[in-house]
Amino acid sequence: MTGTDVTLPTTEDLRERALAALRRVGAEVPEGSDFAARTPITGEDLFGLRATTGAEADEAIRRAAEAFRTWRVTPAPRRGELARRLGELLREHKGDLADLITVEAGKIRSEALGEVQEMIDICDFAVGLSRQLYGRTIASERPGHRLAETWHPLGVVGVISAFNFPAAVWSWNTAVALVCGDTVVWKPSELTPLISLASSRLLARAAQDVGAPADVHALLLGDRDLGERLVDDRRVALVSATGSTRMGREVGPRVAARFGRTLLELGGNNAAVVAPSADLDLAVQGIVFAAAGTAGQRCTTLRRLIVHRDIADTLVDRLTTAYRKLPIGDPFEDSTLVGPLISEGARQTMEDALTRARAEGGTVLVGGGRRTSGTAPRAAYVEPAIVRMEQQTDVVREETFAPVLYVLTYDTLEEAVDLHNDVPQGLSSSIFTRDQQEAERFLSAEGSDCGIVNVNIGTSGAEIGGAFGGEKETGGGRESGSDSWRAYMRPATNTINYSSELALAQNVSFL
Ligand code: NAD
Repeated sequence: MTGTDVTLPTTEDLRERALAALRRVGAEVPEGSDFAARTPITGEDLFGLRATTGAEADEAIRRAAEAFRTWRVTPAPRRGELARRLGELLREHKGDLADLITVEAGKIRSEALGEVQEMIDICDFAVGLSRQLYGRTIASERPGHRLAETWHPLGVVGVISAFNFPAAVWSWNTAVALVCGDTVVWKPSELTPLISLASSRLLARAAQDVGAPADVHALLLGDRDLGERLVDDRRVALVSATGSTRMGREVGPRVAARFGRTLLELGGNNAAVVAPSADLDLAVQGIVFAAAGTAGQRCTTLRRLIVHRDIADTLVDRLTTAYRKLPIGDPFEDSTLVGPLISEGARQTMEDALTRARAEGGTVLVGGGRRTSGTAPRAAYVEPAIVRMEQQTDVVREETFAPVLYVLTYDTLEEAVDLHNDVPQGLSSSIFTRDQQEAERFLSAEGSDCGIVNVNIGTSGAEIGGAFGGEKETGGGRESGSDSWRAYMRPATNTINYSSELALAQNVSFL
């Protein structure tokens, strides 16, 4: 089905809006013809940009390594002042950054503002963290000895990020890495250069304001070749890479081959189990936001619904009704809930997945059609789809980065958990139930095998206070809150002898 009913701003309007936001932030646009800043709202290019050259990337890493030498010995609470100042500037320019996220990633206004809020939140967290980088003291087996564990900065952190959280993922890594005493070189997605320029500019301003070295952070603009430079450069101690499992599969072994560290945040294939006792009003709201929100382009997007057979028809009816009413279109319009897909390629991937799902026995219950606009033929607006499946087939086990929700049914909780865990990815999961035993079993070691396990809430929309990340092909990394900071530091074990005897461990005698 194709509808011609999307009214959109012009590319010229969007170009002006982006340039105005960049001007207010104070970011310079490196004009050139290496690649284009683009908007999925109309599917058109905004203007040409100059990419960072290989030699410039090399120099940026050298300078970041040099800056590390002073930054690592700057007291952590002083480093926290940088995060505090960045948070202030983010607050001041919240609307500007949200504009850029909407223009480049197509997020609806409230989600774009939410992404900037997440950046502010992690800055607040990092300020507190700067006074809480705890080591510990361990009881020594030797008299007159103290055993301790201390944490030290790692070095240069290479951040590679994806288009769909073009600024928040950078801030999770950068705010925490900076207070940990590391310096950062960032290679954002080639699809979102403008928000990267703006974020990077605000950090440079913050560094200047608090007297931090200018080279604590550098931005590399361009495609994956620049990411590969971070991957292969021995001066980069940690590569924190967010993106597809395909990318992680390439990055992980290459960094490991040079004994560097990685923090991988890769694809998800997230599911919600809906039990017979579930509050269906709550479930419908949570499911629709998690599955259709961000046009299905979150790593935590709900992609599989595992519903008890007794309530499946009722729930599916309510969901299809809600889906038919979803306002699709210009993400700058307050009433819009579903903006564009990032590209025509993403739309084609969705169409292919639906074709495969049908061939594998599925029935498309709602959605899947394209919405077009007379003024923007290259824009990719789609109707979020719900597909009923008899079995968890190959297409269901893959992450399709678009709004396709597969519905499967179950009879026992064991069966639901088996279906739930029988995918290669392990990012986010949830159960809707009012039965405490069921909820606890889903949360327990015999339940969900994901890094994020929720009850009576959808799979997406995490808070920064908890550690974020997932298992299996999602990569095993943890970012953001809790004690994720340890990934950005190295522990040292110290044995301090304050006696006059040289006592050897394990009662070994020598000399
Ligand atoms: P992508 O893998 O195409 O690109 C991500 C980044 O990696 C880009 O900056 C790209 O230039 C770079 N890159 C690609 N190949 C590389 C290589 N071989 N070496 C070095 N760098 C390389 O991902 P995308 O399409 O931008 O984003 C969508 C994907 O990201 C989805 O799979 C989504 O689930 C995932 N994602 C995961 C998380 C998470 O926290 N788990 C968060 C956001 C997005």
